[in-house]
Amino acid sequence: MIKTLKFGGTSVGSAANMRRVAGIILSEGARLTVLSAMSGTTDALVKISAAAKAGDDATAKATLAMLRDKYTTCIAELLTSHAAAASERMEDVLTTIANELFTYRGEVSDKLILAQGELLTSAIFCHHMQELGHKAVLLTSPEFMHTDPEGKPDTARLRQELTRLVTQTDPDIYYIAQGFICTDAAGNLSNLGRGGSDYSAALMGVAIDSDEVQIWTDIDGMHNNDPRVVDKTFPIRRMSFDEAAELAYFGAKILHPLTIQPCKEAGINVRLKNSMEPQAEGTLISAGEDNAMDFHAVAAKDGITVVRITSARMLMAYGFLRKVFEVFEKYKTPVDMITTSEVEVSLTIDSTCHLEEIARELAPFGSLEIDHNNTIVCIVGCIDAQHTGLAARIFDGLKEIPIKMISYGANHRSMAILVSTEYKKPTLQALNDHLFGHESAK
Ligand code: ADP
Ligand code: ASP
Ligand code: MG
Repeated sequence: MIKTLKFGGTSVGSAANMRRVAGIILSEGARLTVLSAMSGTTDALVKISAAAKAGDDATAKATLAMLRDKYTTCIAELLTSHAAAASERMEDVLTTIANELFTYRGEVSDKLILAQGELLTSAIFCHHMQELGHKAVLLTSPEFMHTDPEGKPDTARLRQELTRLVTQTDPDIYYIAQGFICTDAAGNLSNLGRGGSDYSAALMGVAIDSDEVQIWTDIDGMHNNDPRVVDKTFPIRRMSFDEAAELAYFGAKILHPLTIQPCKEAGINVRLKNSMEPQAEGTLISAGEDNAMDFHAVAAKDGITVVRITSARMLMAYGFLRKVFEVFEKYKTPVDMITTSEVEVSLTIDSTCHLEEIARELAPFGSLEIDHNNTIVCIVGCIDAQHTGLAARIFDGLKEIPIKMISYGANHRSMAILVSTEYKKPTLQALNDHLFGHESAK
């Protein structure tokens, strides 16, 4: 069985955790392992490049020094015979960052800086595997993970180049690659977006025809609600690809939103596992029926902006919505929720990069209202029109919550509501108590 395993930042966040990861790789017999940077690294690198751009050299230097300490400690605790080689690699990485910061100043490439975390962590980890006496080969993901001008991964090229590197001839070789990082269409180091290592693992797992992709993190699988926000959540043992994709898209941080799609298309199961507790069952995501439970899970996506257009021209007209959507298409801005009345349309977006241009182009259509700081709450379950009383049960729990938008009936598996972000926690907690109170008490 060919397995691709991915370990997130916490899983490789210390020497002790890296040792545990090595044990998991060996016991699973992973062919390919995809690693994130040690926890806190990417945030620190974001801080460093922002500080350098703002001319705040003191913060940039102090944060870089903090990273040096963190990696020095890890190397000292993890490695012996390979310690010098790993330290040399660390010095190279720190020099690359410092050169970029202090040579290019305001023009620094944050993508180049951000990539260093995964490069360094994977190098240290590979030394650990080698020191343990295993044949571990360090791959360089930007050599085979390329994106097009739209930022979409070139999966055909990935398959061709990765299968060439990951040979099937020696089953004892453990290949180690970096998640998150890639080469963009201009040939520069880039990344697949924050949290993108899960997506890297899915794409690489498909490219080498894995039988299973395992995402190892710090929790025992997909929970029924966000455990960072809500008390008494519980793990879900099985989910369909569509349910998992919906939850990931609507904010379940355990999976990058794009992770499921490539695996679903290739029919490759995805297993979510806890590296801190490898015996825990985790969650198996596979093809097949959605769960038949009324309510299966809830997720929330923050940073949502509502664009509301009021126009008398909409009344009895056709083609109006097409023109509105063309504006969002032009600025490559996806729309999540939509509600309409005779003369109004409300849309939600999560990227406000082009909001100014969008608003300018929509202005001739009618009057515009823009409302920031909202959260979409998505309830996944068997939400089918034949099944009466489900909406009543959801809203019964939300009597105290001001609801701004509702999306119901787009599919049979989910329903979404929009609330102001200040109501996110009470909304999630109320849904948990109301819809899952019985199970969460177990
Ligand atoms: P990694 O660094 O391994 O990629 P992440 O922090 O990105 O880990 O994702 C794991 C975290 O996702 C968990 O620690 C948990 O707090 C959070 N999380 C949010 N929603 C869910 C959910 N529905 N089920 C499980 N974990 C969730
Ligand atoms: N290290 C990257 C991040 O923090 C990628 C990842 O963790 O998936 O976003
Ligand atoms: Mg993650």
